[in-house]
Amino acid sequence: MQALKKIIQNTIHLFYPHICTGCGSDILSKENLLCARCLNDLPVTGFAVHPNNPVEEIFWGRINLKAAHSEFYFDKDALIQHLVHQLKYKSNQSIGVYLGELMGKTLLNSKRFENIDALIPLPLYAEKERKRGYNQAAIICNGMSQIMNIPVITTKLQRQRYTETQTKKHRAERWENVEGSFKVNDADALKGKHLLLVDDVVTTGATLEAAGMVLLKVPDVSLSIATLTLASK
Ligand SMILES: [Zn+2]
Repeated sequence: MQALKKIIQNTIHLFYPHICTGCGSDILSKENLLCARCLNDLPVTGFAVHPNNPVEEIFWGRINLKAAHSEFYFDKDALIQHLVHQLKYKSNQSIGVYLGELMGKTLLNSKRFENIDALIPLPLYAEKERKRGYNQAAIICNGMSQIMNIPVITTKLQRQRYTETQTKKHRAERWENVEGSFKVNDADALKGKHLLLVDDVVTTGATLEAAGMVLLKVPDVSLSIATLTLASK
């Protein structure tokens, strides 16, 4: 039976060769999307176990976080850029789940990310999500969720464009740099939880800050942030 299974698997493999998403080399096991060499080439930060790491520094004096982490440095023209591009613009959701699993494993091994109750993907504008067909941050969360065994909450935090009157009001308050606004539509569902806000990249942190501030208005919420990559400003 085992031998037959092997033959069938090998036959399938012959017709549907499983190719490394990074370098295009043929690899064997179906659960690995990257070959060992590409996996080893990913620029991991190691931030998760370090308080006051560069991602936490971004948010100092802006929002109160328990912990923050980015899994990889965003190297332009490198493998990680190619993979994130696949996820965001080539409908490759599998690579997003896979990278989310890698980040999930890192966070599982860090005491600083214990006791998280739910993963919250940073929402896209509704029309952008419709166009892409999915939210890449939610795909990353799905991978993390499988490893960390923590639920993903996608419907309680929403993103919307400013109306004209809001824009004027917010310009006066010097908020013009934040893209859109966020709102929680079911505070009871989030109340008292330690939430991990997740996105594919952090650069200035302005968007994550805006979303985080809204989440922190929910009673007794504590907040951490994790992004797949850290881009230089
Ligand atoms: Zn490879």
